[in-house]
This record gives sequence, structure tokens and C-alpha cells, in this order.
Amino acid sequence: MLCFTACERRPVPNVLLITVDTLRADRLGCYGFGLARTPHIDGLAAEGVRSTNAITAAPITMPSHATILTGLYPSAHGVRDNGAYALGDGAVTLTERLKAAGYTTQAFVSALVLNRRYNLTQGFDGYDDDLWAEDAPPMFMIRKRPAAKTAGRFLAWFEQWRTTPKRKPFFAWVHFFDPHQPYKPPPQDRLFAPTLYDAEIAAVDRAVGQILSALRQHQLLDNTLVILTADHGESLGEHQEKTHALFIYDATVHVPLIFRYPRVVPHGKVYTGPVRTVDIVPTVLGIVGLPGGKETQGVDLLPAWRGTMPPPDLPQYSESLLSEVGFGMAPLYGVRKGGYTWIRAPKPELYDLGHDPHELHNLYADGDERAAKLDRELEAILEGSRRFAITAGNNPMTQETAEMLRSLGYVAGGQERKSMQGIDPKDGLPIYNKLEEARHFAQRSQWAAAGQLLHEILDTLPGHVAARNILAFVLLRQHRWEDAKDQYLHSLATDPQQSRVYAMLGTLALIQQNLDEAEQHYQQALELTPAFVEAMVDLGAIELARGNTEKAEAWYKKTIAADPGFPRAYAGYADFYYQQRNYEAALTYYRKTLDMLPHNFHALINAGHAAHLLSDFATARTFYQRAERLRPDSWLPPYNFACLAAIEGDPQQAIVLLEQAVSKGFANVGLLQHDEDLHSLRPLPAFQKLFNAVQEQAAGLPD
Ligand SMILES: [Zn+2]
Repeated sequence: MLCFTACERRPVPNVLLITVDTLRADRLGCYGFGLARTPHIDGLAAEGVRSTNAITAAPITMPSHATILTGLYPSAHGVRDNGAYALGDGAVTLTERLKAAGYTTQAFVSALVLNRRYNLTQGFDGYDDDLWAEDAPPMFMIRKRPAAKTAGRFLAWFEQWRTTPKRKPFFAWVHFFDPHQPYKPPPQDRLFAPTLYDAEIAAVDRAVGQILSALRQHQLLDNTLVILTADHGESLGEHQEKTHALFIYDATVHVPLIFRYPRVVPHGKVYTGPVRTVDIVPTVLGIVGLPGGKETQGVDLLPAWRGTMPPPDLPQYSESLLSEVGFGMAPLYGVRKGGYTWIRAPKPELYDLGHDPHELHNLYADGDERAAKLDRELEAILEGSRRFAITAGNNPMTQETAEMLRSLGYVAGGQERKSMQGIDPKDGLPIYNKLEEARHFAQRSQWAAAGQLLHEILDTLPGHVAARNILAFVLLRQHRWEDAKDQYLHSLATDPQQSRVYAMLGTLALIQQNLDEAEQHYQQALELTPAFVEAMVDLGAIELARGNTEKAEAWYKKTIAADPGFPRAYAGYADFYYQQRNYEAALTYYRKTLDMLPHNFHALINAGHAAHLLSDFATARTFYQRAERLRPDSWLPPYNFACLAAIEGDPQQAIVLLEQAVSKGFANVGLLQHDEDLHSLRPLPAFQKLFNAVQEQAAGLPD
């Protein structure tokens, strides 16, 4: 049963939270952009309250969304960057509060940086982050799902919810990722948009329109509180920053914020007072009539919107710790109040927003009273965060790791750390651009050129873990295993919280067939990020290689429980059944894998083998054919076709196919001698001839 405050007799609204990644407010029509093609978002604003002065807490996806869903600043919820931090279980999210009050809760996210492993799942009945079937992203890019698809997922879920008898009200969070780079909008949106970025926004607007019209069509829109905002903007070259995440200027922290809920939220109001994304949770709770708003760092904005109290003069906090945790530079902390922006940095900044809205003229001078006052304001927010602080889901360096790194001489001395912290991110821009250049070289497999630039960066900034991790990867791609490992260990010494780096060390150890070491690294990755499915599935493979089938199976089960959409878990399970000689189950799991990863060569070949061993030769052939199309230069498909031909009584064809396999590098004498499938060929002179040729070739090969 729903349990709302007794005196309220309002109907219980559904709550729909839409977050659009990387959306600058000033690229929407309702925020004054004349060339925008955003009629649905504009319509939403026209029927609700639009805040003209909304500021996000961080220009980085995961910390920002953690703030939107908790009403806490990153300094309190502890998530400071993408990839390395999971939200602590101690956080009480908006979702958990609505769920406790009887809501059905469902999330749809469109980028891997919001994957369930980062623990924004708290309170959600369903968390659709199933992106594994999407095209693999280019190197260093984020796996994502286009807006039309995400909207489609919402609509399918909505239809199910709508037709459920005695349904509960819903809380749905829909995250769209499209305006994030690379900008590759659908063709229909390219035509009229001034830039590709704007075309991506137009594509999101159409998806928003679909969702709203489904609600409207079933007379549910007016009983749904709709909130639309962005996690951050996009710099588009302002302050020499191309995208977002490094700086905390208006270009990336000013976001749209729209609330629509007729009868309660004013219609067509433009609110100019300062607001923040920490205010979303308390405002939603206030509107819905639930307690908990006071346990956030925000305020309920509804009274100010309704005019029952004067607009509060709220300080607007933003931070970016990317420069510190990723690049070994100084962090940036900022606050806006009374028409000024204050940024605490090695070279501090003060801007008069009234006269200088683009923050181009730094007014800061030593002893500036305005700056000192704003810095006290900033300190009060950071101090206040301590009261709310929850532990993020990551552990500091374990004693064991610390000792290992120290004994290897990797832990940076205090002196080095101090000097790193001196560099202002403003001065780090050339380095940032160099990093981009190195990434571009690596994307084109120009490893030496990439390596040189990365070394240049690391000579200046040894604490630049982003550069160091890319360098390690570049070395790995060149098969320089020891050098790659060395760089990863260096990286961990600077920032020990990187579960991905542990996983890479695990992969390196596996390549070098050191199962025990690999296991240790994967365990460390899991300690930092408990739902790190890549580590789990590799731990399964390690146990399988050791012959511990029960332990292997336990890991695969755990992986699927942690993320039922993760295809490598099914591939692992398939290998497990294959090794158990349960070919039927193996085939089922290879098929599941191939549904998600149709281009997995290993799964295609093994699926063929499983069918082959079940004597379903027609099915085996279709898998081998797919494998051959994928890798026409591999000897595996022709060899397996030869086996099928031999079994099916066509020795001549089988010999031709074996010759094909040999021409593609097949040189396995043992298989020719012992593979049962080839039994009928062995008496044939043509086979003897081929066998002798392979034997000779194999003898000539170096060991
Ligand atoms: Zn983002």
C-alpha cells in the first residue's frame, strides 16, 4: 500500500526523470537558441517551470548523475569520476525513497559509464543497461545506445506497466547519451541542424517526444511529474576546451532544468533564481509529498516557484576532480553566488557574470574581498559535505597492494606528489591536447607515434594516470608484455583505486600463462568494483583452465547474476559445458553468446564443434560458414569442413579442403594422425601425400 502524509489528498503522480547527457541549455529552443529543433522539450518547458540558472555539480557523467539521484554533492556521495567509483550502498537515493513509498521503479541508461556495476541501481526494480549488443565503440570511446532505441525500450516497458492490473505508480529514469561525442546523428536529423552536435540533440528531442506522446495518448501525462535536465553541457571550444570534464565554466556546468506537473507546478513559468541539481531530489519529494528532502544538500524549490516564498539566494557548487585523479594536476572547486563565479585553483579565478557571462575576464587579485567571501562559502559546502558523507564503493589501497608497490619501488614519494598538485588545469591544456593526439595515433595503430607523445606527457607530469594507462595499452598492443606491466604498476602506485588497471594486469598475467598472478589481480579489481563482470568471467576461465569445474561454474553464475546482459558470461558458460562434454548445453550457450556477439569467431567455431559432436552436421556447417565469412584467412573453417566431408563420405572433397587448410597455415601433424573424423581418409594415397608434406613442413619450423 502507498503510504503518504495523511493530510495530503493529492493523487499520487508517476515520476519521469529524463537526463540528457552533454546537453547545453543554450542549444535548446526554449533557452533561446533560434536554430534549435527541439519542439518537444520546448513544449514541456512551456507547460511547466523552466529554470534559466541551473548549475550541475560536476561536468562528468557518473558523479553528476549520482548527485541528481541522491541530492548530495560529489564531496558527500564520494563519486568523483567515471569508471573507478561506484556509489556506496550507504547512499539513500530518490529511487529507494519512492520504492519504499510503493512505486514501481525502472531505469534505462544509454552509456557504459552508468552500467549497473557503478551502483546507481539502488532502489530500481529494473535497470536496463543492456548495451552489449550495440556496435563495439571505437578505441577509447564509450559503449552507448542511440536515443530512438532507448525510447523504444521505455515504450515497451510502459506498455507492460500500463496494462498491469492494480498497477502501482511508476518512477522511471531515462538517460539519453547522443549529444556526447563522437557526434554521429541519424541522417534525418543532419539536414536542418546547424552542427552535428545540434543534430544529436534533435534526435534526442524526437525520442523525448515519443515518450511524452505515449503518456499523453493514455491520459497519463498530466498525472506524471516530468523532470528534464542534463548531467553537464559541452564546451565546444570555449576556454580552448573541446568537450567537457576538465573545467567548470558555464559552458559545461550550466544545464537545462524543466519540471512539468499541471495543477501543482506552475504553468509556463520562467524561474531565474539560482538552482542546482542537488535540488531535484528534495523538490520531487516535496511535490510527491514524501519526507527525506532535509537529508539532502538541496532545497525544495516548489514554494519559490509558486511565489509563496522569495527566491532563495542559493550558492551553486561545482567541481572537477578529473584533473587530479586522472591527470595528476590540481583539482578545481567552484561556487557561484550573487552574480559571481569563484574557482579555487592554483591560479584562482573570479568572474562577474552580469558583465562577463562567458567568464573571459578574470577579476581575481590578491586580497580580493569578494573572492575571500566566496571561498568561505565554498569551504562551508565542503565542510557541510562531511556531515552527509557516505563511503563510496571503493576501497583505499589494501595493505598488501601498498607493500607490493613499495617493494617494487613504485610508490611516488611525497615530494613528487606535491609538485604534481601544483599544476593548474588551465596550464595543463596543451598536455590535454597532446593526450588527444596520442589517442588518435593509437586509434590508427600508430603505436610508436602514440608512445612518443605519451612519454613526453609523462616526463612533465609523472602522475598523469590517463596517459600512463594509454601508454601501457600501446605497449600491450605491441606485445611488449613486461613494459606494459611496468606502466600499469606505475599507474596503480599513483592511483590505487583503478579496478580496470587491475583487470588489465590480470589479462597480462593470463597472456603470460601465470594463472595465480592473474587471479590475484582480478580479485583486487573485484574488491574495488564488486560487480566488475569482466574480472568475474576471467576468474571463471582461470578455474576452468585449472580443471576446477565447480569453481568455474560458480564464477559464471555470479557473472550472469551481476549482469544478465554480459555476453562473455554466456561464452564462458558455453566453454564450461563444452569442457564437461555437455554439448547440448554448450550449443545453447554459444547461441546466446552469438545473439549478442554475432562476430565472435571462437564462439562460432566451438558452436560448430558442439553441433558436429551432436552429429547435427547441417547446423555445424552453418556455424563454420559464418566463421569463414568472418575470417577467410583462417585454416579452422576449411579444416572443419574437411572433417564434415570425410564423415559424410566425400573423401575427394575432404582432401581438397585439407589442402585449403594447409594453404592457410594449417600444420598440425597430431590432428592428421589422430582426429577421428579423418579416419576414412587415412588409407588414401592423396592423404598420405598431404600428410608427408605437412610433416616435412612442421619439421622445418623453428620450435
Ligand atoms: Zn555525461
